This record gives sequence, structure tokens and C-alpha cells, in this order.
Amino acid sequence: MNNAITVDIECAARARDPQRNRLLALLPIDDRMRLRPHLEPITLCSGDVLCGQSARYLYFPTAAIVSLLYVTQSGASNEIAVIGADGVVGLSGGGDTQPLQSRVQAGGHAFRLRAQLADASEPLRELLGRYMRAVQAQITQAAVCNRHHTIDQQLCRRLLLGTDLLRTNEIEMSHQVLAHLLGVRRESISVAAHRLQLAEIIRYRRGRIEILDRARLEERACECHAVLQRERHRLLPAPTHSTSFARSGAVVTRRVVHTASYAASFNRI
Ligand SMILES: [Zn+2]
Repeated sequence: MNNAITVDIECAARARDPQRNRLLALLPIDDRMRLRPHLEPITLCSGDVLCGQSARYLYFPTAAIVSLLYVTQSGASNEIAVIGADGVVGLSGGGDTQPLQSRVQAGGHAFRLRAQLADASEPLRELLGRYMRAVQAQITQAAVCNRHHTIDQQLCRRLLLGTDLLRTNEIEMSHQVLAHLLGVRRESISVAAHRLQLAEIIRYRRGRIEILDRARLEERACECHAVLQRERHRLLPAPTHSTSFARSGAVVTRRVVHTASYAASFNRI
């Protein structure tokens, strides 16, 4: 089997581990084991709107990104928060109704849980409350960012956030989609992206953007990314325990090996 296929299989297997989601990983083991049978693995597809079901379900991404959009009556929109493996969709009222909409931006794996079951777990309710504060911080920061930071800075910030949440150095996103998320003209995104490509900080082709020099991308981003990262770590520190959702001893052993590298990944989101 070649290496690329091996890596893909390993990534897919990890994405199907609920512990890849920070909130689920932070639960005490008793609550994790109690909720495990009720966590339904699902695949989210790019462009899906998590419609009315988001009132009945909470969605915990493990390898997917969902944008919380503010949509105007004319159909224009702005991304006001981004949710990935660090959080949960379904708390903020973003369903299929205007003005808030939860739309899958990068398809992938997630687990969903009936909202009423989440209510029954006090530790989960407490974690959801803390995550809600992190989302509110994103919404506040988005308002400042759109008003005071340049399109170049915002593009760098959004690329850092997207690749952090997916734990990768490459994302699939066209200039049109980026323009839609940032609420600016596509031409402005193309000019900003071209500048980054000329500086050999990113490389883009056919809707894929690869980060070539993360340190310089961070230098060019506005402060918002670092500010929100610090706030997330303050509210939801990376899990330090090495427990797992797995039940059999053999699987536990294998997943404990992964935990250290997961913790390193969690530290970035
Ligand atoms: Zn900003």
C-alpha cells in the first residue's frame, strides 16, 4: 500500500473518533461513556445548510468546518463565526432561517447528538456554555475585523483559521467563496491572494490553497486570529487526560498512542 493511501486511511479513522472533537474530549469519562451510544457518526457535505434539525441536534465536527453566516434579505452574507473540531454547531440559533445560517464550508466527519441528551449532562452543559462564550467572542471580533482590518489581513486570518481547524496546510476554497465569507468583492480577494502567491506564502490552483510559509502568513494577518486563539485556550484548555471513547483494551492501547499528537493538534485550534 502506498504512503498516501495509508495516511488517508489513518486520517479517516481518526476523524471517526469522537475524541477528535475538543468538547467531547474534555468530558469526564463517565459522561463520555454514557453519551457514546447516542453519538451518531455523520458526513457533512460542503454547501449543506444544517437546517431546522440544528434545533433538535447538536453537531460535533471532527474533520469538517461549518460557517455561521449572517444573511441579508438581498442574499448577501458575512461569516460571523467558524466552527470546527474545537466546537459544536446548533447552540447559536444558526439554522435555516435568516438572518443566521449554519453552512458546511469544508465537508467531512462529525457526530450528532440529540439536544435533549446534551441537556441531561451537567458537564456537557457547562462545556457548551464555555464554547458559546468563545463563539460570542468570534462574533464580536468579526465586527471589528470587518470594519478596521484590510482585506489582505482578513484573508490571511481566514486562511490560518481554516487550516488550523482542519489540521492541515491546504484548504479547498475558491476566491468566490472567500469573497462571500468576508463580504467583499471577488476581485479584491484575487488581488490579495495573488500578492501572497507572489511572495511565496501561499500557492493556489483549481480552488485549492496551500500554505507554504505559515510564519509569514501569521505576520501578515491581523491580530484577530491570535486574540481568538488565546480566548479559546483560556475557555477550553486542551485535554490533558489520555482516556478514550473506545471500549476494548486493544483499541484503547492504539488510541492512547494517538492522544499525544491529538493534544498537540488541539493546542493549535
Ligand atoms: Zn482582524
